[in-house]
Amino acid sequence: MHRGSRYPRRMVRFTVLASGSKGNSTVVSGGRTRILVDAGLSCRELFRRMRLAGEEPETLDAIVITHEHQDHVNGLAVTARKLGIPVYFTEATHRAWMRWLTPRRKMTYAQWLEQCRQQAVAREAEADAGATEGEADDAELAVGQEVTGAAVREMGAEPVALKDPTWLPAVEYFEAGKAFQVGDIAIQTFTIPHDAVDPVGFVLEAEGVRMALATDLGYMPPNVKTQLKGLDLLLLESNHDLEMLRDGPYPWSVKQRVLSRVGHLSNDAAAAFLENEYDGLAGYIILGHLSESNNHPELARVTAERALSARASLLANHLLLAEQHMPLVPVCF
Ligand SMILES: [Zn+2]
Ligand SMILES: [Zn+2]
Repeated sequence: MHRGSRYPRRMVRFTVLASGSKGNSTVVSGGRTRILVDAGLSCRELFRRMRLAGEEPETLDAIVITHEHQDHVNGLAVTARKLGIPVYFTEATHRAWMRWLTPRRKMTYAQWLEQCRQQAVAREAEADAGATEGEADDAELAVGQEVTGAAVREMGAEPVALKDPTWLPAVEYFEAGKAFQVGDIAIQTFTIPHDAVDPVGFVLEAEGVRMALATDLGYMPPNVKTQLKGLDLLLLESNHDLEMLRDGPYPWSVKQRVLSRVGHLSNDAAAAFLENEYDGLAGYIILGHLSESNNHPELARVTAERALSARASLLANHLLLAEQHMPLVPVCF
C-alpha cells in the first residue's frame, strides 16, 4: 500500500526513534514502503520523533512487532488505529499482547480464536461500510484501562474499539524463522533467546540494502550469528556492563533475569561477537537497548571499538549509539 510521499523513490533509510528499556521503535524505508519496527512509545511521541527525524507518520504502511514486552508495544494499538495500517506479529505474540491488554479477563484458546474471528468480521463490516480513518487526537489508553465512549472518540478509533481495546485495523501473521514481504521490503525473521512468548529479530532488505535488528537477546545462538552476515547495517544490543549490573540498584532477581540466557546482551558479549564472529561487512553498527541504570554510553562504545580495532579490517565500520530520549540521525543508503 503506497500512501504517496515526497521522498525520492530510490532511497533506503534506517531511523532509530528510540532504543532502551523505556521504549523501542525504528522506521525502515525502502522503495515505496515504510514500516515501523516496534511501537514502544506513545503514538504522540512516535509521531513527534518521526517528524523530528524527517519521516512522515502518515506514510507508514505497516507496523512489525518483535515481541510483546511493553517497551516494544506501548503505543501499538493507538498508532495502528490512527493510521489504519496492519500489524504483523507471530500468532503467539499477538495472543500474548491481547492478554496483556485484557488482564482481568482470562481467555482460553477457544475464546481467543472467537475474539479474533469477531474482530475479522468487524473489520470486514468496517471495510464494507467504507469507513474512513478518524480525525484523531492523541489520547493513550493505559494498560487494562476501561475503554469509555469518550476515550474512543478522543482516540478517533473505530467504534468497535469501544468494546475491545485489542481491536486493530488489520492483523497479519508471520512465522518465526520464516521470511515475508511488506511492499518493497523483504523481512527475514529469526528466533532470539529472550523471555517473551515468541521473540524474533529481523533482517530487512530493500533495494539490495540489508539491515538487521538484534536486541533483547540473552546470548548469541548459532541461528542469530548465521543471520547477521552480509549486512549493510546492524543494530546490536549492548545492554549492560557486567560490573555495573552486579553492583547496581536492581534487585537480585532482576539481575538474574537480565544476566540469564533469555535476558539481555552485555557489552562484553556484543564485543565478543564483533571480534570473533562478525564478518565486518556492515558500514554501520548501531549499539542499542543500552540500560540507563547498568551501562554508560561511553563504556559501551569503548568496549565495541576495542573489539573492532582488534581486527584491522573492521575499522571502516561506523559505530553509532542509539538513544532512549531522542531519535538518531537517519542512516541513508
Ligand atoms: Zn524484551
Ligand atoms: Zn526491550
